[in-house]
Amino acid sequence: MSDISLLRGVDFHCHLDLYPDLKMAIEKAEEAKIYTLAVTTTPKAWPRNYALTQGTRFVRAALGLHPQLVAERADELALWEHYLPQTRYVGEVGLDAGPRFYRSIDAQKVVFRTILERCAKAGDKILTIHSVRSVPLVLELIECHLPRARGIAVMHWFTGSKSEARRATDLGCYFSVNAEMMRTERGRDLVGGLPLERILTETDGPFTQVDSRPAEPSDVGKAIEAIAAVRSMDPEAVNNAVRSNLQQMLR
Ligand code: MN
Repeated sequence: MSDISLLRGVDFHCHLDLYPDLKMAIEKAEEAKIYTLAVTTTPKAWPRNYALTQGTRFVRAALGLHPQLVAERADELALWEHYLPQTRYVGEVGLDAGPRFYRSIDAQKVVFRTILERCAKAGDKILTIHSVRSVPLVLELIECHLPRARGIAVMHWFTGSKSEARRATDLGCYFSVNAEMMRTERGRDLVGGLPLERILTETDGPFTQVDSRPAEPSDVGKAIEAIAAVRSMDPEAVNNAVRSNLQQMLR
């Protein structure tokens, strides 16, 4: 990461290709100097995301296969594998055992395990991971298939317990935290207890809102402020920690 000193913030999980104009969304993130991980949900979206992030200073594209899409798109795993050598960043991937997606959980497990194995084999990948109602299983798969020396797992919008957060920390995971997570007492308690050196920030835009519009990377300051509030820290100190965590992680 060459321009860390210029960096204003970190949005490590944002669906830029779900905004009306991907090119403009990338330009806005560049302009705002927010290090943005543009996650994708299907490998079919990869070529365009990849092409548009080739000369960018702050925006990187991640190659994803979203667990909520696995029921219809498990056969795109071969395409996902085909593109993997083009990027260090992988996501959105993971498991979703919520009521709407539970039926495909067996297929999701096969896909996620394969993704972890391919990343471990390739080495040096960074993954942004969805774990709705499936934290123990997600952690078990990471533990078995993505050894710490072979890749980095970032838990996106983590909603597990404090002991599950400790287990993830012991496995070497980072946590990308958004402002929405701290609307509940449970969320505030969880974020308050995470190790500071493993915290990154995210918006998960456009799935979170600011002033009744979809959040953008430049809104990630809301996450910084909320983290600072729950940890009784100065927001600037939190932002410095997040930038330094990013730098450490990318090294
Ligand atoms: Mn997402």
